Amino acid sequence: MKALHLFHQRLEEKGVSGRIMSDFDYETLLNRARDNIPEDISSRARWRLPEPQIMIEGSNTILRNFTEVVAMMDRDDNHVYQYILNELGTSGSRDGPRARFKGRIPPKRLKKAIVGYVNTYIKCIQCGAPDTHFMKEDRTTLLKCQACGATRPVKL
Ligand SMILES: [Zn+2]
Repeated sequence: MKALHLFHQRLEEKGVSGRIMSDFDYETLLNRARDNIPEDISSRARWRLPEPQIMIEGSNTILRNFTEVVAMMDRDDNHVYQYILNELGTSGSRDGPRARFKGRIPPKRLKKAIVGYVNTYIKCIQCGAPDTHFMKEDRTTLLKCQACGATRPVKL
C-alpha cells in the first residue's frame, strides 16, 4: 500500500492524474481485467500516462515528451525505448526529453507500441493494477504486483 500511495502522490505531483486521453486511455485497456475483481482493488488500477506528443519532422517521427511518459511508468527509459524501436522495426536516437524514430510513423502505431510496453512489462494480468515491479527468482525475472501479490515471468 505504501508504494501505491507513493505512486498516486507521484501522479498528483506531476499534475496529470486527471488528464483524459482519447485513444490512449488506460482505463479502457484495463477494463476487462477489472470486471473480474473486487472494487477496492479495481479502483487502484486507474492511472494514466501523459498524452504522447508526437510529431513528424522531415522523415523522422518525434515523441516530444518521451521522458515524461517514461517517468510515469517507473521503468528504465532505455528499456522502454528499445522496446518501442523493436515494435516499430526502426532505429532512432534519444535527444534530451525527446525520442526520435526513423520514418514517418503513424501516431496510432507509436501509441500502440507504448501501450504494448505497459501490457507486457507493467500491468498485472490478474488485477490490472500498474503498481508492479521486477524481481529476480533464480534465473527468471518476475513481474510482481503490489496490489494483489500475483507474479508472472517476464523476458527482459
Ligand atoms: Zn495484481
